[in-house]
Amino acid sequence: MFIPENFKGRKALVIGAGKSGVACANLLAAKGFKVLLTDEKKAYDIKEKLKGLARSVEVETGGHGKKAFSCGFAVKSPGMPGSHPLIAALKKKNIPLFSEIEIALSFSAAGKLLAVTGTNGKTTTTVLLGEIMNAALRPGARALVCGNVGIPAAEAAPKARPRDAVVMEVSSYQLEDSLHIKPDAACVLNITPDHLDHHGSMAAYVKAKEKVFKFQGPSACCVFNYEDDYCRRLAKGCPSKVLFFSSRRAGGKLSAWAAGRKLLFKTGKETFTVKPPGLPGAHNLENAMCAGLMALHCGVKPAVIKKVFASFRGVEHRLEPAGKARGTLFINDSKATNVDSTLVALKALGRKKNIWLILGGLDKGSPYAPLLPLVRKSVKAVLTIGAAAPKIEKELAGSCPIITSVTMERACRAILETAAPGDIALFSPACASFDQFRDFEDRGRKFKAFVKKL
Ligand code: ADP
Repeated sequence: MFIPENFKGRKALVIGAGKSGVACANLLAAKGFKVLLTDEKKAYDIKEKLKGLARSVEVETGGHGKKAFSCGFAVKSPGMPGSHPLIAALKKKNIPLFSEIEIALSFSAAGKLLAVTGTNGKTTTTVLLGEIMNAALRPGARALVCGNVGIPAAEAAPKARPRDAVVMEVSSYQLEDSLHIKPDAACVLNITPDHLDHHGSMAAYVKAKEKVFKFQGPSACCVFNYEDDYCRRLAKGCPSKVLFFSSRRAGGKLSAWAAGRKLLFKTGKETFTVKPPGLPGAHNLENAMCAGLMALHCGVKPAVIKKVFASFRGVEHRLEPAGKARGTLFINDSKATNVDSTLVALKALGRKKNIWLILGGLDKGSPYAPLLPLVRKSVKAVLTIGAAAPKIEKELAGSCPIITSVTMERACRAILETAAPGDIALFSPACASFDQFRDFEDRGRKFKAFVKKL
Protein backbone atom coordinates (compact mmCIF):
# COMPACT_ATOMS: atom_id res chain seq x y z
CA MET A 1 0.00 0.00 0.00
CA PHE A 2 1.31 3.36 -1.03
CA ILE A 3 1.46 5.29 2.23
CA PRO A 4 3.21 2.83 4.58
CA GLU A 5 5.60 1.67 1.87
CA ASN A 6 6.62 4.93 0.33
CA PHE A 7 6.69 7.31 3.26
CA LYS A 8 8.10 5.34 6.16
CA GLY A 9 9.79 7.62 8.67
CA ARG A 10 8.54 10.79 6.96
CA LYS A 11 6.50 13.39 8.78
CA ALA A 12 2.85 13.75 7.75
CA LEU A 13 1.09 17.07 7.40
CA VAL A 14 -2.67 16.90 7.95
CA ILE A 15 -4.43 20.08 6.84
CA GLY A 16 -7.72 20.90 8.52
CA ALA A 17 -8.77 19.89 12.03
CA GLY A 18 -12.31 18.79 11.16
CA LYS A 19 -13.73 15.41 12.12
CA SER A 20 -11.96 13.61 9.28
CA GLY A 21 -8.70 15.57 9.71
CA VAL A 22 -8.50 14.63 13.39
CA ALA A 23 -9.32 10.97 12.61
CA CYS A 24 -6.66 10.93 9.92
CA ALA A 25 -4.02 12.49 12.18
CA ASN A 26 -4.84 9.90 14.86
CA LEU A 27 -4.57 7.07 12.34
CA LEU A 28 -1.19 8.20 11.05
CA ALA A 29 0.09 8.72 14.60
CA ALA A 30 -1.09 5.22 15.57
CA LYS A 31 0.77 3.85 12.58
CA GLY A 32 4.01 5.39 13.80
CA PHE A 33 4.20 8.57 11.76
CA LYS A 34 5.16 11.92 13.18
CA VAL A 35 2.16 14.13 12.44
CA LEU A 36 1.65 17.88 12.21
CA LEU A 37 -2.01 18.94 12.17
CA THR A 38 -2.47 22.47 10.88
CA ASP A 39 -5.59 24.64 10.80
CA GLU A 40 -6.06 28.29 9.96
CA LYS A 41 -8.68 28.73 12.67
CA LYS A 42 -7.65 29.97 16.10
CA ALA A 43 -7.00 27.34 18.79
CA TYR A 44 -10.04 28.55 20.74
CA ASP A 45 -12.39 27.94 17.80
CA ILE A 46 -11.35 24.31 17.26
CA LYS A 47 -10.81 23.39 20.89
CA GLU A 48 -13.80 20.99 20.88
CA LYS A 49 -12.62 19.22 17.75
CA LEU A 50 -9.14 18.68 19.15
CA LYS A 51 -10.42 16.91 22.27
CA GLY A 52 -10.10 13.47 20.69
CA LEU A 53 -6.70 14.09 19.17
CA ALA A 54 -3.79 11.75 20.02
CA ARG A 55 -1.20 13.39 22.27
CA SER A 56 1.66 12.70 19.94
CA VAL A 57 0.15 14.86 17.19
CA GLU A 58 1.73 18.29 16.94
CA VAL A 59 -0.84 21.05 16.39
CA GLU A 60 -0.45 24.37 14.60
CA THR A 61 -3.39 26.80 14.65
CA GLY A 62 -4.18 30.24 13.25
CA GLY A 63 -2.32 29.58 9.98
CA HIS A 64 0.75 27.65 8.94
CA GLY A 65 4.45 28.33 9.19
CA LYS A 66 7.55 26.88 7.57
CA LYS A 67 7.16 23.56 9.38
CA ALA A 68 4.49 22.49 6.93
CA PHE A 69 7.06 22.29 4.17
CA SER A 70 9.38 19.97 6.05
CA CYS A 71 6.78 17.19 5.87
CA GLY A 72 7.17 14.23 3.52
CA PHE A 73 3.54 14.19 2.42
CA ALA A 74 0.32 16.02 3.10
CA VAL A 75 -3.32 15.09 3.59
CA LYS A 76 -5.92 17.64 2.61
CA SER A 77 -9.22 17.88 4.45
CA PRO A 78 -12.18 17.51 2.13
CA GLY A 79 -13.62 20.98 2.76
CA MET A 80 -10.48 22.85 1.82
CA PRO A 81 -10.54 24.24 -1.72
CA GLY A 82 -7.75 23.14 -4.05
CA SER A 83 -7.11 26.82 -4.78
CA HIS A 84 -5.96 27.49 -1.19
CA PRO A 85 -2.48 29.10 -1.08
CA LEU A 86 -1.09 26.34 1.18
CA ILE A 87 -2.10 23.67 -1.35
CA ALA A 88 -0.51 25.64 -4.18
CA ALA A 89 2.69 26.10 -2.12
CA LEU A 90 2.88 22.36 -1.31
CA LYS A 91 2.41 21.48 -4.96
CA LYS A 92 5.15 23.92 -5.94
CA LYS A 93 7.51 22.16 -3.55
CA ASN A 94 6.47 18.77 -4.97
CA ILE A 95 5.15 17.56 -1.64
CA PRO A 96 2.72 14.71 -2.44
CA LEU A 97 -0.86 15.43 -1.49
CA PHE A 98 -3.39 12.71 -0.59
CA SER A 99 -7.04 12.68 0.31
CA GLU A 100 -8.20 11.46 3.69
CA ILE A 101 -10.03 8.51 2.12
CA GLU A 102 -6.86 7.34 0.38
CA ILE A 103 -4.94 7.40 3.64
CA ALA A 104 -7.77 5.48 5.32
CA LEU A 105 -7.83 2.87 2.56
CA SER A 106 -4.11 2.40 2.49
CA PHE A 107 -4.35 1.03 6.03
CA SER A 108 -7.44 -1.08 5.35
CA ALA A 109 -7.35 -4.82 4.80
CA ALA A 110 -10.98 -4.94 3.63
CA GLY A 111 -11.71 -7.62 1.07
CA LYS A 112 -14.16 -5.39 -0.76
CA LEU A 113 -14.62 -1.67 -1.22
CA LEU A 114 -17.98 -0.27 -2.32
CA ALA A 115 -18.10 3.48 -2.98
CA VAL A 116 -21.21 5.59 -3.46
CA THR A 117 -21.26 9.04 -4.98
CA GLY A 118 -23.75 11.36 -6.71
CA THR A 119 -25.24 14.77 -6.00
CA ASN A 120 -28.28 13.43 -4.12
CA GLY A 121 -29.15 10.14 -2.46
CA LYS A 122 -25.66 9.17 -1.33
CA THR A 123 -26.43 8.63 2.35
CA THR A 124 -29.64 6.70 1.74
CA THR A 125 -27.94 4.44 -0.81
CA THR A 126 -24.86 3.94 1.37
CA VAL A 127 -26.88 3.03 4.45
CA LEU A 128 -29.08 0.62 2.47
CA LEU A 129 -26.04 -0.95 0.82
CA GLY A 130 -24.35 -1.29 4.21
CA GLU A 131 -27.39 -3.18 5.50
CA ILE A 132 -27.41 -5.47 2.46
CA MET A 133 -23.69 -6.23 2.78
CA ASN A 134 -24.00 -6.83 6.50
CA ALA A 135 -26.82 -9.30 5.90
CA ALA A 136 -24.91 -11.00 3.09
CA LEU A 137 -21.51 -11.44 4.70
CA ARG A 138 -20.76 -14.68 6.47
CA PRO A 139 -20.92 -14.71 10.29
CA GLY A 140 -17.84 -13.10 11.74
CA ALA A 141 -17.49 -10.68 8.83
CA ARG A 142 -19.08 -7.22 8.65
CA ALA A 143 -19.64 -4.19 6.48
CA LEU A 144 -18.09 -0.99 7.78
CA VAL A 145 -20.16 1.98 6.67
CA CYS A 146 -18.18 5.22 6.63
CA GLY A 147 -17.17 8.41 4.83
CA ASN A 148 -19.55 11.26 4.25
CA VAL A 149 -22.26 9.48 6.27
CA GLY A 150 -20.61 10.88 9.38
CA ILE A 151 -18.08 8.25 10.44
CA PRO A 152 -14.68 9.30 9.11
CA ALA A 153 -13.14 6.79 6.72
CA ALA A 154 -9.87 7.04 8.67
CA GLU A 155 -11.68 5.81 11.77
CA ALA A 156 -13.62 2.91 10.22
CA ALA A 157 -11.77 1.55 7.17
CA PRO A 158 -8.54 0.58 8.99
CA LYS A 159 -10.59 -1.67 11.31
CA ALA A 160 -11.65 -3.87 8.39
CA ARG A 161 -10.22 -7.36 8.06
CA PRO A 162 -9.90 -9.27 4.79
CA ARG A 163 -13.35 -10.86 5.23
CA ASP A 164 -15.00 -7.48 5.76
CA ALA A 165 -16.36 -4.95 3.29
CA VAL A 166 -16.00 -1.18 3.46
CA VAL A 167 -19.07 0.70 2.23
CA MET A 168 -18.11 4.31 1.78
CA GLU A 169 -20.10 7.42 0.93
CA VAL A 170 -17.75 9.66 -1.02
CA SER A 171 -18.44 13.29 -1.80
CA SER A 172 -16.87 15.25 -4.62
CA TYR A 173 -14.74 16.99 -1.98
CA GLN A 174 -13.25 13.68 -0.90
CA LEU A 175 -12.78 12.42 -4.43
CA GLU A 176 -11.14 15.44 -6.00
CA ASP A 177 -7.64 14.69 -4.65
CA SER A 178 -7.91 10.91 -4.84
CA LEU A 179 -5.71 8.99 -7.24
CA HIS A 180 -5.62 5.60 -5.53
CA ILE A 181 -9.22 4.68 -4.94
CA LYS A 182 -10.28 1.49 -6.73
CA PRO A 183 -13.69 0.33 -5.54
CA ASP A 184 -14.88 -3.17 -6.44
CA ALA A 185 -18.28 -1.61 -6.95
CA ALA A 186 -18.90 2.10 -7.44
CA CYS A 187 -21.81 4.28 -8.51
CA VAL A 188 -22.72 7.74 -9.68
CA LEU A 189 -26.37 8.22 -8.67
CA ASN A 190 -26.94 11.52 -10.45
CA ILE A 191 -25.16 14.81 -11.15
CA THR A 192 -26.74 18.25 -10.87
CA PRO A 193 -24.95 21.57 -10.27
CA ASP A 194 -23.82 21.73 -6.63
CA HIS A 195 -20.81 22.96 -4.65
CA LEU A 196 -19.65 25.00 -7.63
CA ASP A 197 -18.20 27.63 -5.30
CA HIS A 198 -15.78 24.98 -4.03
CA HIS A 199 -14.95 23.29 -7.33
CA GLY A 200 -14.89 26.44 -9.45
CA SER A 201 -16.90 25.03 -12.36
CA MET A 202 -19.34 22.30 -13.33
CA ALA A 203 -16.56 20.65 -15.33
CA ALA A 204 -14.35 20.44 -12.22
CA TYR A 205 -17.26 19.05 -10.17
CA VAL A 206 -17.93 16.32 -12.75
CA LYS A 207 -14.21 15.55 -12.94
CA ALA A 208 -14.13 15.01 -9.18
CA LYS A 209 -17.09 12.61 -9.36
CA GLU A 210 -15.37 10.68 -12.17
CA LYS A 211 -12.61 9.64 -9.78
CA VAL A 212 -14.97 7.14 -8.14
CA PHE A 213 -14.47 4.82 -11.15
CA LYS A 214 -11.47 6.23 -13.01
CA PHE A 215 -8.89 3.92 -11.42
CA GLN A 216 -11.02 0.75 -11.37
CA GLY A 217 -10.04 -2.41 -13.24
CA PRO A 218 -12.23 -4.34 -15.72
CA SER A 219 -13.56 -6.81 -13.15
CA ALA A 220 -15.05 -4.03 -11.02
CA CYS A 221 -18.35 -2.30 -11.81
CA CYS A 222 -19.81 1.16 -11.75
CA VAL A 223 -23.56 1.77 -11.61
CA PHE A 224 -25.02 4.83 -13.36
CA ASN A 225 -28.44 6.46 -13.65
CA TYR A 226 -29.47 6.13 -17.30
CA GLU A 227 -31.79 9.15 -17.05
CA ASP A 228 -28.99 11.51 -16.12
CA ASP A 229 -27.14 13.09 -19.06
CA TYR A 230 -23.93 13.58 -17.09
CA CYS A 231 -24.02 9.96 -15.91
CA ARG A 232 -24.54 8.62 -19.43
CA ARG A 233 -21.66 10.73 -20.71
CA LEU A 234 -19.36 9.64 -17.87
CA ALA A 235 -20.20 5.97 -18.41
CA LYS A 236 -18.61 6.13 -21.87
CA GLY A 237 -15.18 6.62 -20.28
CA CYS A 238 -15.64 4.08 -17.49
CA PRO A 239 -12.93 1.37 -17.42
CA SER A 240 -15.02 -1.09 -15.38
CA LYS A 241 -18.27 -2.88 -16.15
CA VAL A 242 -21.04 -0.31 -16.65
CA LEU A 243 -24.46 -1.08 -15.14
CA PHE A 244 -27.40 1.26 -15.78
CA PHE A 245 -30.65 1.67 -13.87
CA SER A 246 -33.69 3.78 -14.70
CA SER A 247 -36.91 4.67 -12.90
CA ARG A 248 -38.48 5.90 -16.15
CA ARG A 249 -37.93 3.23 -18.82
CA ALA A 250 -37.42 -0.52 -19.11
CA GLY A 251 -35.25 -3.07 -20.92
CA GLY A 252 -32.54 -2.32 -23.45
CA LYS A 253 -29.20 -1.47 -21.93
CA LEU A 254 -30.57 -1.40 -18.40
CA SER A 255 -29.66 -3.78 -15.60
CA ALA A 256 -32.46 -2.58 -13.29
CA TRP A 257 -35.76 -0.79 -13.78
CA ALA A 258 -39.16 -0.26 -12.18
CA ALA A 259 -41.69 -2.84 -13.32
CA GLY A 260 -45.15 -2.13 -11.94
CA ARG A 261 -44.85 -2.04 -8.18
CA LYS A 262 -41.61 -4.01 -8.23
CA LEU A 263 -38.03 -3.51 -9.25
CA LEU A 264 -36.59 -5.80 -11.88
CA PHE A 265 -32.93 -6.73 -11.76
CA LYS A 266 -31.23 -8.31 -14.74
CA THR A 267 -27.67 -9.42 -14.34
CA GLY A 268 -25.65 -11.74 -16.59
CA LYS A 269 -26.89 -14.79 -14.75
CA GLU A 270 -30.34 -14.01 -13.55
CA THR A 271 -33.44 -11.88 -13.74
CA PHE A 272 -35.60 -11.38 -10.69
CA THR A 273 -38.15 -8.95 -9.31
CA VAL A 274 -38.23 -7.57 -5.80
CA LYS A 275 -40.52 -5.32 -3.81
CA PRO A 276 -38.71 -2.00 -3.21
CA PRO A 277 -38.21 -0.61 0.29
CA GLY A 278 -41.34 1.13 1.59
CA LEU A 279 -40.04 4.68 1.03
CA PRO A 280 -41.82 7.38 -0.96
CA GLY A 281 -40.72 8.67 -4.36
CA ALA A 282 -39.08 7.54 -7.58
CA HIS A 283 -35.78 8.81 -6.18
CA ASN A 284 -35.87 6.10 -3.55
CA LEU A 285 -36.50 3.45 -6.21
CA GLU A 286 -33.33 4.74 -7.88
CA ASN A 287 -31.36 4.51 -4.64
CA ALA A 288 -32.60 0.94 -4.12
CA MET A 289 -31.76 -0.15 -7.67
CA CYS A 290 -28.31 1.33 -7.34
CA ALA A 291 -27.58 -0.38 -4.02
CA GLY A 292 -29.03 -3.66 -5.35
CA LEU A 293 -26.85 -3.66 -8.47
CA MET A 294 -23.69 -2.90 -6.52
CA ALA A 295 -24.46 -5.72 -4.09
CA LEU A 296 -25.26 -8.19 -6.88
CA HIS A 297 -21.93 -7.40 -8.50
CA CYS A 298 -20.24 -8.30 -5.20
CA GLY A 299 -21.92 -11.70 -5.24
CA VAL A 300 -24.88 -10.99 -2.94
CA LYS A 301 -27.83 -13.31 -3.48
CA PRO A 302 -31.24 -11.88 -4.53
CA ALA A 303 -32.87 -13.38 -1.43
CA VAL A 304 -30.69 -11.18 0.80
CA ILE A 305 -31.62 -8.07 -1.19
CA LYS A 306 -35.31 -8.96 -0.92
CA LYS A 307 -35.06 -9.40 2.83
CA VAL A 308 -33.22 -6.14 3.45
CA PHE A 309 -35.50 -4.14 1.12
CA ALA A 310 -38.48 -5.44 3.08
CA SER A 311 -37.12 -4.16 6.39
CA PHE A 312 -35.35 -0.93 5.34
CA ARG A 313 -36.99 2.13 6.89
CA GLY A 314 -34.85 4.87 5.33
CA VAL A 315 -32.51 7.34 6.99
CA GLU A 316 -33.38 9.89 9.65
CA HIS A 317 -34.43 13.38 8.43
CA ARG A 318 -35.16 12.22 4.87
CA LEU A 319 -38.94 12.11 4.33
CA GLU A 320 -39.16 10.48 7.72
CA PRO A 321 -42.63 10.02 9.25
CA ALA A 322 -42.57 11.95 12.52
CA GLY A 323 -46.02 11.07 13.83
CA LYS A 324 -49.71 11.80 13.37
CA ALA A 325 -51.74 14.44 15.18
CA ARG A 326 -55.50 14.82 14.63
CA GLY A 327 -55.26 12.82 11.42
CA THR A 328 -52.44 14.91 9.92
CA LEU A 329 -49.21 13.09 9.15
CA PHE A 330 -46.12 15.13 10.03
CA ILE A 331 -43.03 14.41 7.92
CA ASN A 332 -39.50 15.35 8.84
CA ASP A 333 -37.46 16.19 5.74
CA SER A 334 -34.98 18.46 7.50
CA LYS A 335 -32.20 17.18 5.23
CA ALA A 336 -33.85 19.22 2.45
CA THR A 337 -31.41 22.09 2.77
CA ASN A 338 -31.89 23.23 -0.83
CA VAL A 339 -34.73 23.83 -3.27
CA ASP A 340 -33.92 20.69 -5.30
CA SER A 341 -34.48 18.45 -2.29
CA THR A 342 -37.82 20.08 -1.50
CA LEU A 343 -38.83 19.51 -5.13
CA VAL A 344 -37.96 15.82 -4.75
CA ALA A 345 -40.10 15.67 -1.60
CA LEU A 346 -43.09 17.31 -3.32
CA LYS A 347 -42.74 14.96 -6.28
CA ALA A 348 -42.64 12.00 -3.92
CA LEU A 349 -45.62 13.00 -1.76
CA GLY A 350 -47.70 15.32 -3.91
CA ARG A 351 -50.39 13.03 -5.28
CA LYS A 352 -53.25 15.17 -3.91
CA LYS A 353 -53.56 18.80 -2.90
CA ASN A 354 -53.16 17.99 0.78
CA ILE A 355 -49.70 19.26 1.76
CA TRP A 356 -48.93 21.96 4.31
CA LEU A 357 -45.38 22.91 3.46
CA ILE A 358 -43.06 24.49 6.04
CA LEU A 359 -40.29 26.39 4.26
CA GLY A 360 -37.46 28.63 5.44
CA GLY A 361 -34.25 28.97 7.36
CA LEU A 362 -31.03 30.41 6.10
CA ASP A 363 -31.28 31.35 2.43
CA LYS A 364 -28.69 29.80 0.15
CA GLY A 365 -29.02 32.25 -2.70
CA SER A 366 -30.95 30.16 -5.19
CA PRO A 367 -34.49 31.01 -6.36
CA TYR A 368 -37.60 29.39 -4.85
CA ALA A 369 -39.60 29.86 -8.08
CA PRO A 370 -38.82 26.30 -9.31
CA LEU A 371 -41.18 25.15 -6.54
CA LEU A 372 -44.14 27.03 -8.06
CA PRO A 373 -45.65 24.31 -10.32
CA LEU A 374 -45.64 21.67 -7.58
CA VAL A 375 -46.79 24.13 -4.90
CA ARG A 376 -49.76 25.04 -7.12
CA LYS A 377 -50.51 21.36 -7.71
CA SER A 378 -50.26 19.85 -4.26
CA VAL A 379 -49.78 22.45 -1.51
CA LYS A 380 -52.71 23.76 0.53
CA ALA A 381 -50.58 26.43 2.23
CA VAL A 382 -46.95 27.39 2.68
CA LEU A 383 -45.80 28.30 6.19
CA THR A 384 -42.60 30.32 6.34
CA ILE A 385 -40.02 30.36 9.10
CA GLY A 386 -36.59 31.84 9.69
CA ALA A 387 -34.48 34.41 7.92
CA ALA A 388 -35.43 33.43 4.36
CA ALA A 389 -39.17 33.99 4.96
CA PRO A 390 -39.53 37.39 3.19
CA LYS A 391 -37.76 36.12 0.05
CA ILE A 392 -39.82 32.93 -0.06
CA GLU A 393 -43.07 34.87 0.46
CA LYS A 394 -42.22 37.24 -2.37
CA GLU A 395 -41.21 34.52 -4.82
CA LEU A 396 -44.13 32.19 -4.11
CA ALA A 397 -46.77 34.95 -3.82
CA GLY A 398 -50.07 34.08 -5.52
CA SER A 399 -49.44 30.33 -5.73
CA CYS A 400 -51.28 29.39 -2.52
CA PRO A 401 -52.05 30.92 0.91
CA ILE A 402 -48.84 31.86 2.70
CA ILE A 403 -48.71 31.98 6.48
CA THR A 404 -45.81 33.82 8.11
CA SER A 405 -45.00 31.63 11.10
CA VAL A 406 -41.51 32.72 12.22
CA THR A 407 -40.74 29.46 14.04
CA MET A 408 -41.20 25.77 13.27
CA GLU A 409 -43.30 25.36 16.42
CA ARG A 410 -45.75 28.11 15.43
CA ALA A 411 -46.01 26.65 11.93
CA CYS A 412 -46.87 23.21 13.35
CA ARG A 413 -49.55 24.65 15.64
CA ALA A 414 -51.07 26.66 12.78
CA ILE A 415 -51.30 23.49 10.66
CA LEU A 416 -52.90 21.55 13.47
CA GLU A 417 -55.61 24.20 13.89
CA THR A 418 -56.77 24.09 10.26
CA ALA A 419 -55.66 20.86 8.61
CA ALA A 420 -58.17 18.17 7.65
CA PRO A 421 -57.71 14.45 8.40
CA GLY A 422 -55.54 12.87 5.71
CA ASP A 423 -53.45 16.03 5.20
CA ILE A 424 -49.66 16.02 5.30
CA ALA A 425 -47.49 18.52 7.19
CA LEU A 426 -44.20 18.50 5.35
CA PHE A 427 -41.16 20.05 7.02
CA SER A 428 -38.88 20.31 3.98
CA PRO A 429 -37.34 23.75 4.48
CA ALA A 430 -35.32 24.20 1.22
CA CYS A 431 -32.88 26.24 3.31
CA ALA A 432 -29.89 25.78 5.57
CA SER A 433 -30.67 25.58 9.26
CA PHE A 434 -28.00 27.73 10.84
CA ASP A 435 -30.19 30.78 11.55
CA GLN A 436 -32.30 28.98 14.16
CA PHE A 437 -30.65 25.58 14.67
CA ARG A 438 -27.21 24.03 15.08
CA ASP A 439 -27.51 21.96 11.91
CA PHE A 440 -30.13 20.05 9.91
CA GLU A 441 -29.99 17.16 12.38
CA ASP A 442 -30.71 19.43 15.33
CA ARG A 443 -33.56 20.99 13.29
CA GLY A 444 -35.04 17.58 12.44
CA ARG A 445 -34.81 16.26 16.00
CA LYS A 446 -36.47 19.40 17.41
CA PHE A 447 -39.26 19.02 14.84
CA LYS A 448 -39.83 15.39 15.79
CA ALA A 449 -39.79 16.19 19.49
CA PHE A 450 -42.34 18.96 18.97
CA VAL A 451 -44.60 16.73 16.88
CA LYS A 452 -44.52 14.14 19.69
CA LYS A 453 -45.73 16.85 22.08
CA LEU A 454 -48.58 17.76 19.75
P1 ADP B 1 -26.93 12.93 0.09
O1 ADP B 1 -26.18 12.13 1.08
O2 ADP B 1 -26.39 12.80 -1.30
O3 ADP B 1 -27.19 14.34 0.49
P2 ADP B 1 -29.42 11.73 1.08
O4 ADP B 1 -29.63 10.28 0.94
O5 ADP B 1 -29.01 12.27 2.40
O6 ADP B 1 -28.38 12.21 -0.03
O7 ADP B 1 -30.73 12.48 0.60
C1 ADP B 1 -30.80 13.89 0.68
C2 ADP B 1 -31.97 14.42 -0.09
O8 ADP B 1 -31.73 14.21 -1.48
C3 ADP B 1 -33.27 13.67 0.18
O9 ADP B 1 -33.97 14.29 1.21
C4 ADP B 1 -34.01 13.78 -1.12
O10 ADP B 1 -34.65 15.01 -1.18
C5 ADP B 1 -32.91 13.83 -2.16
N1 ADP B 1 -32.64 12.54 -2.83
C6 ADP B 1 -32.37 11.34 -2.27
N2 ADP B 1 -32.14 10.42 -3.19
C7 ADP B 1 -32.22 11.04 -4.38
C8 ADP B 1 -32.06 10.62 -5.74
N3 ADP B 1 -31.74 9.37 -6.06
N4 ADP B 1 -32.25 11.55 -6.71
C9 ADP B 1 -32.57 12.81 -6.40
N5 ADP B 1 -32.74 13.27 -5.16
C10 ADP B 1 -32.56 12.40 -4.15
